[in-house]
Amino acid sequence: MARRLRGGRPIARRASTWAAVALLATQLVGVSAVAAADPVSFGTPTASSTFGKSIVFEQPVTISGTPKRVEILVTTPGAIGPEVVPLPSGAATGSSLTYTMDMATGGGAVPNTTFTARWRVVDADGKAWLGPPVSRTYDDDRFTWKTLNGKVVRVHWYEGGQALGQKAVKIGDDAIAAAADLLGVTESDPIDFFIYADQKAFYDALGPGTRENVGGQAHPDIRTLFALIAPDEIDAGWIESVVPHELTHVVFATAVDNPYHEPPHWLNEGLAVYLSDGYDAAFKAMVQSAAGDGSLMPLDGLAGAFPTTQDRFFLAYGESVSAVDRIVRVNGRDALVKLIRSYRDGVSDDDAFKAALGTDVAGFEADWLADLGAKPPTRLGPQPAPGGPLPAGWSGPRPNPSFEVGASAAPGSPIVPGRSGSPSTTDWFILIGAVVAGLLLIAAVAIVLIRRRRPAMAAPVAVDARSTPVAPDRDAAPSWVDTDWSLPRPDDGAPPDAAQLDAALPDAAPPVAPTPPPDPTDHPTGS
Ligand SMILES: [Zn+2]
Repeated sequence: MARRLRGGRPIARRASTWAAVALLATQLVGVSAVAAADPVSFGTPTASSTFGKSIVFEQPVTISGTPKRVEILVTTPGAIGPEVVPLPSGAATGSSLTYTMDMATGGGAVPNTTFTARWRVVDADGKAWLGPPVSRTYDDDRFTWKTLNGKVVRVHWYEGGQALGQKAVKIGDDAIAAAADLLGVTESDPIDFFIYADQKAFYDALGPGTRENVGGQAHPDIRTLFALIAPDEIDAGWIESVVPHELTHVVFATAVDNPYHEPPHWLNEGLAVYLSDGYDAAFKAMVQSAAGDGSLMPLDGLAGAFPTTQDRFFLAYGESVSAVDRIVRVNGRDALVKLIRSYRDGVSDDDAFKAALGTDVAGFEADWLADLGAKPPTRLGPQPAPGGPLPAGWSGPRPNPSFEVGASAAPGSPIVPGRSGSPSTTDWFILIGAVVAGLLLIAAVAIVLIRRRRPAMAAPVAVDARSTPVAPDRDAAPSWVDTDWSLPRPDDGAPPDAAQLDAALPDAAPPVAPTPPPDPTDHPTGS
């Protein structure tokens, strides 16, 4: 699930893809004569989609004269507003407007996302004409999907018999009912559940940047779930685990929906694991082991994205369900529900915890660690740089290296304005050096500005408070992967046990297995 403002479709997530969107063509198909009444009239727009390639929007139009601006407005479910893509200047005086959204990079939209577009023509006086909307769902059309409707869950699968769909629908509807009942919400709008039979197709659907070992993923904003379930896994524990797990995320999102503040990731994942698998022996062993050697991650390190390395990734789930288990054991199920539901009012974490559990987050964490008999977790992450050596005889305070961005000019600097006399050769070198440095600085600023302006669809709409601001390079890896609720997948379809977690999950390993970085960089990357 992507974090968002009120029901907000993660535009930030879009941004990474739309940075790559190519405005392929705006064709002139003959300039029309002046229309009788209105200088701009729209025909019926159309849209088509091809998985992994493109979504094409076409709009018949009659425009007399030369508009000042023509743009397409594209929106996705729950977005706070459309993305606006201007057409190249002077390119839109014809009778057909075409916009091709490049989906080849696959980095931003998962299948089942519906895009709605309309065109806007603006004349020199600022008068605007808005065309009719057209919607198109981005489908994974590589497969012929079978569909089975349950009460709420709509299962889609392409391999395996009817029994697979029936089982998934049953598990899904039961899970929805249980979670909705627990959290006191009503779920009646359909939830689409897509079952992929092989890992490559599954990962292609989720897009690049999908984390290793991910076997399921929930996108509550489009009420869509994805899971990797092979047809022969119909009787394996995995299907009993992944279906309720992902559906719990959808119900959780409904229960906490607010425009201000989202609960910590560990609470969301902890509930999903608790309701699907419980705090089982494998997770207990894992958490106890980490508690014993001081390698537990602090809960605030699990408030955002989970770590990427496999052992820490699994441990993150273990700690999450361990913490949720403690809340239920000590404070009771009602307190857990109260805690989760209080987020709907947009309260802070401390306020939510105090009201439901009688202690703030730090207090809860301390109690949880004491309960586990854990050594205090080692705090990793950015460390302040050490201060440099002090000059001999220096008696002032040790300088803060953070502010030492440049040396001040030495007394008698040769480039002081108004200095009398001719500059020496050394002066000239310094002067030229300063000019060159200045030009380089200007060029760097210009490059930054150009880069910022380039992705027209990647307008800096930072609705995702946790993922986007920490990604200064919008063209880099898509940020939304940090915020989708994923479930790690064991390699044999069963819930992970300690041996598996130690073993490296060969089948589920990604094409590029990460090399565990040397300590201390092997730590959570939570955003
Ligand atoms: Zn999850």
